[in-house]
Amino acid sequence: MTYSKDWYQKNKELHKQNCKKYYIEDKEEHKKRSVKWQKDNPEKQREIRRKTYQKNKERENKRSREYTLRRRVQVLKAYGGQTPSCSKCKETEVRVLELDHIHNDGKKERNELKKLGSGFYGHLIKNNYPNKKRYQILCKNCNYLKYLETKK
Ligand SMILES: [Zn+2]
Repeated sequence: MTYSKDWYQKNKELHKQNCKKYYIEDKEEHKKRSVKWQKDNPEKQREIRRKTYQKNKERENKRSREYTLRRRVQVLKAYGGQTPSCSKCKETEVRVLELDHIHNDGKKERNELKKLGSGFYGHLIKNNYPNKKRYQILCKNCNYLKYLETKK
């Protein structure tokens, strides 16, 4: 038995339509099932949402930490050269280095900056690293020692 070309063609169309129909029905079915599942498992649903939120938050935090560190390094290099180091003990680990106000007028400056609504590093970058004589690089230890000294 041989089929005519027409029959084959017709059948093909029919087959295609059926496939599409099943696909759509399947999709609807899938959606319904997933909505039902969410209704039946509110706790699990919450857990999933919480985990997704947590994951996003962690990613955001990591990105913002990296961004802050990059900006810190940028500023430290601008004031301390290619290899910024503590002006007292020569420590070069950038994670413990910070820009210190030589004349301890940091509080005054912070108040000024708050009025401008910009952070310290942001302010320095935006203004092309001004007042090179106003700051020095210190590590956290030396900065703390300086703080103790001035408190006396
Ligand atoms: Zn130091």
